[in-house]
Amino acid sequence: MVFKVLFILIALTLSGFGMDLIKVGEDVYMAKGHYGLPSRENRGFISNSYGILTREGWIVIDTLSTPELAREFISELRRIREAPILYLIITHYHMDHWFGISAYKEVGAKVIAHRNLKEFYEEGLADEVLEAVKRAFPGVFDSVKLSPPDIVIDSPVKLRVGRRVIEIIPMTPAHTNTDLVVKVGNVLFVGDLVSYKRIPFLGDRNVKTREWLKVLDRIKEMKPRLIFGGHGDPMDLKAVDWTKEYITYLRENIRKLKDEGLFIDEVKEAMKDTPFKDSYMYEEFHMRNVYSIFNELDMEL
Ligand SMILES: [Zn+2]
Repeated sequence: MVFKVLFILIALTLSGFGMDLIKVGEDVYMAKGHYGLPSRENRGFISNSYGILTREGWIVIDTLSTPELAREFISELRRIREAPILYLIITHYHMDHWFGISAYKEVGAKVIAHRNLKEFYEEGLADEVLEAVKRAFPGVFDSVKLSPPDIVIDSPVKLRVGRRVIEIIPMTPAHTNTDLVVKVGNVLFVGDLVSYKRIPFLGDRNVKTREWLKVLDRIKEMKPRLIFGGHGDPMDLKAVDWTKEYITYLRENIRKLKDEGLFIDEVKEAMKDTPFKDSYMYEEFHMRNVYSIFNELDMEL
């Protein structure tokens, strides 16, 4: 099994920016996005999407960044098994996790998300973000059409589909104020709450890193055998430790530098070089994270 997964991973690496699904568990399939920011070249395929096959149909976790990518994922799922797409569960409100939502509405899936995601939509903020990312990443998000979820949750729910029990557990605020995890047997889908050797993004307007550390402890207590994240390969509990180490390192060091009276530019300079500098997305996210924590620590006082 391990060799098979490795083989498919190598095949995927050689295939450019196409979408090949990887079987990562019993009836669980994954599309693995590329590391990087959205671009015309990668079509915004920078995150993961998962399909869980039940006797009644598919359950999908996260949409990828655009309706085109979402439709491609759906057609790959249907090549594995021609079955209805029953539910789409959105792990949080970042563009690469739900901007493909219209493709799921087209096939009649019921969309489940955190209650705050619906508010984010209804207050017009989602469309503001869409306009901003269209400007920031030209030619990637032009066909995105946002709409609200059908079912919202703000406390844990159990969904019974076929013989499967799907637990959806809000874990917010942490990475954002819309985070939720999905537990199916002993595997856990975590969105961007857990990362391994890829710098997590701590720059969201609703980030709460102190709470995030508590969420990571809760995830550990759930003892998942496998952790499926929004980016990168399937993980295990050591990824939870890695994520905690990065967040804790930033919090502790930035607090110390602030206590010494350093200003933001000096803190940024001092935090350029860290033990995490060889991780993916360091260049893209790390300095933004330092800035974000610098401000967040002020608000915690
Ligand atoms: Zn995210």
